[in-house]
Amino acid sequence: MLGQMMDTPLLIKNLASHAERNHGFQEIVSVAVDNDRHRYTFNEALSRSRKVSNLLDRLNCASDARIATLAWNDYRHVELYYGVSCSGRVLHTVNPRLFPEQLIYILNHAEDEFVFFDVAFTKLLESIASDCPSVKGYVALAPRSCMPDSNLPNLMCYEDLLAKESSDYDWPDLDENTASGLCYTSGTTGNPKGVLYSHRSTVLHTYGMCMPDAASLSAQDVILPVVPMFHVNAWGYPYAGMMVGAKIVLPGPKLGDAETLVSLINEEGATIAGGVPTVWLPLLEYLKNTKKEIKTLTRTVIGGSACPLSMMEEFRDNYGVRVLHGWGMTEMSPVGVVNTPNARTSGLIGDELKTHLVKQGRALPGVEIKITDEDNRSLPWDGIKFGALKVRGPWVCSGYYRVKNSDAHQSDGWFDTGDVATIDINGCVKITDRTKDVIKSGGEWISSIELENVGMSYPGVRECAVVGMAHAKWQERPLLVVVAKNSSEDFSVAQFLSFFEGKVAKWWIPNDAIFVSELPHTATGKVSKLLLRESLEGYKFPDDN
Ligand code: ADP
Repeated sequence: MLGQMMDTPLLIKNLASHAERNHGFQEIVSVAVDNDRHRYTFNEALSRSRKVSNLLDRLNCASDARIATLAWNDYRHVELYYGVSCSGRVLHTVNPRLFPEQLIYILNHAEDEFVFFDVAFTKLLESIASDCPSVKGYVALAPRSCMPDSNLPNLMCYEDLLAKESSDYDWPDLDENTASGLCYTSGTTGNPKGVLYSHRSTVLHTYGMCMPDAASLSAQDVILPVVPMFHVNAWGYPYAGMMVGAKIVLPGPKLGDAETLVSLINEEGATIAGGVPTVWLPLLEYLKNTKKEIKTLTRTVIGGSACPLSMMEEFRDNYGVRVLHGWGMTEMSPVGVVNTPNARTSGLIGDELKTHLVKQGRALPGVEIKITDEDNRSLPWDGIKFGALKVRGPWVCSGYYRVKNSDAHQSDGWFDTGDVATIDINGCVKITDRTKDVIKSGGEWISSIELENVGMSYPGVRECAVVGMAHAKWQERPLLVVVAKNSSEDFSVAQFLSFFEGKVAKWWIPNDAIFVSELPHTATGKVSKLLLRESLEGYKFPDDN
């Protein structure tokens, strides 16, 4: 027997119309190319989104056209999020930090019809435009006064174009499985792979994000997404903020500028922020040096790579900010698990609390998780056994865009995340490594993330990474690579390594530490272990004869 409930499709336009009816007055505040503090209401934003939809019709875009954006977190980008997807087209957010050859691959693979871009990326686009034949024109996200002097083919001005459009547009009643967005993984191995989100997956992920045991978003929040809108939809904040009626504050091109972030937090009253650990390092340093405060901020979601315990403690103890450690990936829209307390963990103190905090957290309802051994047998949730982390659910991708078969998508319906993890009795996931970064020493596995956590808590360390390097006796041993806060700092390797004693199993302690001026990062701000290993070619452990 079927239930008798309405079969209302889950569409992004319904998030938008809910926002218009219930909190159309709410603000989006944004740093932009032509304004260091642009502000307007949700209603104004969405009426310009309808102009965008009219514009795409006028430009004769196909009903399922892929429309690329190369843009920072600003209000014009939000307009595109809604205007492109609600008209039935696919918003393809492109990461401008990728290498030119990857950008060319992505734009061609997606067959993007138009590229909407921030003027800062003009030169980058000029260098690749002749290799992107599907692109019919380039729209600069700027007013006439800020238009770049450029030879990009069919270059247009966003503000001039919008001025000609009507804000009346009846967004269609699409099938909820219609594609709404496209985001490519950064492709550290092989070509980048496209993840094609649907309206349904986006709406469900938005509900998931807002739940109390996720980011717990409400109409009283002021959200500062520091995670770029070109990377997994800024973890869904532009949708979630609109849906719940939270004020949205966007740092524009100043996303990496600690001073701007701190003034946005204080002047706009941000209550929640979100970003990868590397964006918070300079912000914490800036706060320390200037003795400024961030009183309104109550919590920040940190994920994308493991958040070191020292960062959580600094936020909590010095600024009263709770870090919500989370894990996810482009293939998961992206949020999979968030570390919030339950009845068994809320009272933890001391070392037990520390051990718990570095875990990535419990699965959001809607995300099923399991860990398996090499024979695909499920492993127990005992916090000890580690295995391949697999997931499934309505906001997990079922395949890659225009890729026939992928090893990650398994015949039993689960997606292999490529991460290795333990899960404890509370369902709390702890990522120990990416499969390819696991250190295999004498047949046993060592977690680089756990060692990095200890390394980060050593005084004077700005950033560190642990990689497995060849060792004649043990096959691989961990090497600690360190960036000091102060370049004149004189570390003793022996003292540093003895700091690990008692904190990890004795045989996990790195065999050596080396000091570098900086670590290589990927386009999404994570330490690139691939490049790091390449730069260490020829390295030999002192005890490896
Ligand atoms: P890319 O690294 O290609 O840009 P994603 O941003 O989708 O792609 O990265 C997802 C990966 O990032 C995960 O599979 C995992 O390895 C890593 N990751 C994400 N969050 C965390 C976290 N909190 N702790 C450790 N690793 C994380």
